[in-house]
Amino acid sequence: MTSMRTRERLVSRLRDEGITNENVLDAIRSVPRHIFVDEALASRAYEDIALPIGMGQTISQPFIVALMSQAAVAAPAPSRVLEIGTGCGYQTAVLASLVARVYTVERIELLLTRARQRLRALEMNNVRFKHDDGNDGWAECGPFDAVLVTAAPLRLPEKLVEQLVVGGRLVIPIGDSRRQRLKLFTRTKSGVSEDTIADVSFVPMLRGRG
Ligand code: SAH
Repeated sequence: MTSMRTRERLVSRLRDEGITNENVLDAIRSVPRHIFVDEALASRAYEDIALPIGMGQTISQPFIVALMSQAAVAAPAPSRVLEIGTGCGYQTAVLASLVARVYTVERIELLLTRARQRLRALEMNNVRFKHDDGNDGWAECGPFDAVLVTAAPLRLPEKLVEQLVVGGRLVIPIGDSRRQRLKLFTRTKSGVSEDTIADVSFVPMLRGRG
């Protein structure tokens, strides 16, 4: 169930759905998604579905992880990426296999601790973790070439834009429980440009630490 053939099936499905970046597809193929979910759900880990990870949170659907990664790592290739909403750490691991350094912030300490253990077990040593409210970003470690947010705020958190380099990309779902859109904001010399990538459904981005 965690065989190469099962993973290959997932990759060809993502290809069919429009994921074209081969580095992203390689990352999805190589990161063992089954270790990011409960053992009871491991047999479903290579299906293209979101799954519960406890504490009322979910592991994102592989297609969405691939879509967001593809948007974040598009040319010019980023080397420093900030992720908000570590959750189980699956998206973190995919990013860590694509870029030089990943900084990740999670408001629920238990999830962060478990994610750190999983990435350590995978010997992914290019990730720094922080227990905090991601609405503030991680100013001391910025600016970042890309920021990827995996929980949905109602409005764009300004601090995340401020922590981007000029030309940097922010991939973020915005909206409420009825309607959310995955957006790509690109910082320009004078402000920010905005594109819509897709309709999505993420858990809400909350305030404060959990
Ligand atoms: N990235 C995960 C999915 C995470 S689910 C994956 O790879 O599957 C969204 C996560 O965002 C949850 O763990 C939730 O606790 C976290 N979150 C919500 N609001 C937050 C905030 N303000 N700061 C940091 N993390 C937040």
